[in-house]
Amino acid sequence: MTANLIDGKKIAADIRSEVKTAVSARQAQGLPVPGLATVLVGDDPASKVYVRNKQKACAEVGIASFGYNLPAEASQQEVEDMVSQLNADPTINGILVQLPLPRHLNDEAVLSAIDLHKDVDGFHPVNIGKLAQKGREPLFVPCTPAGIMVLLEKAGAKLEGANAVVLGRSNIVGMPVALLLVRANATVTICHSKTRDLPSITRQADVLIAAIGKPEMVRGNWVKPGAFVIDVGINRIEDPAAPKGSRLVGDVAFEEVREVASAITPVPGGVGPMTIAMLLRNTLHARELADQSSHI
Ligand code: NDP
Repeated sequence: MTANLIDGKKIAADIRSEVKTAVSARQAQGLPVPGLATVLVGDDPASKVYVRNKQKACAEVGIASFGYNLPAEASQQEVEDMVSQLNADPTINGILVQLPLPRHLNDEAVLSAIDLHKDVDGFHPVNIGKLAQKGREPLFVPCTPAGIMVLLEKAGAKLEGANAVVLGRSNIVGMPVALLLVRANATVTICHSKTRDLPSITRQADVLIAAIGKPEMVRGNWVKPGAFVIDVGINRIEDPAAPKGSRLVGDVAFEEVREVASAITPVPGGVGPMTIAMLLRNTLHARELADQSSHI
């Protein structure tokens, strides 16, 4: 069997186009456009690229973006003051604090300071807490996990009663995607660096999510025939044959696994494009929440 490719680029482009249409409709009605503030502390090159890409994506769909930079040595108080200022600004509907923050800062306190209604990354402890509770609805769901759920839906995965295995338990990907899968009525196993005999667990998975940051660790014989495989990993490996001397691979040995799975995401072009698309969707949602509240 050769797996169907789950085309994240195309699915993300469709979501961006839906957001663009909704923003244009708002403009046509004279309603305010959504506004996203990005907060970058320090000058980590990868973080700068991520923030720039998010701002560019906003511009493409008509969302206003406002970039705020603080020096690497900014104090906890300075970062929290900036968040408070953005909380009070009615033109800003979403606040994205680019992670990771410099080590001396307490990211939990910074994320907790964000107005719940502006938490477009979905990392506020209250939003994550609601995600973990039955019958509660978070205002926002973290972007990469939300994007993974859209990919599974578009690929036709039946989640109810399915065995889902999540490799990784980070706050950003592994844990929230596991919570979303539970909410979708899958039976979920979460694996991490202390899990014993990973392949024996992954072989039970109807749905396998790999989010560990280990290049091509999931091999063909780790995967149940017919499984849906979502590869979140983004790893750069040396490859003298590649134009830049290196290339990106996921956490899954793509060529082997595609012969076993029924559907699989490529890297790049799978989960990656979904993260920004979901951020745009969340920012539009934040604007709609603001419409309903007093602070328009
Ligand atoms: P983290 O480093 O925060 O978490 C990695 C997780 O994998 C941890 O839970 C860790 O376990 C677990 N792990 C590490 N090694 C092993 C192992 N050998 N066996 C089993 N579990 C292991 O990473 P992130 O969750 O932030 O990211 C994971 C990957 O996804 C990275 O490649 C990252 O670049 C990518 N990513 C992609 C995004 C996208 O948009 N496509 C967005 C975010 C991340 P433990 O908890 O025990 O340490």
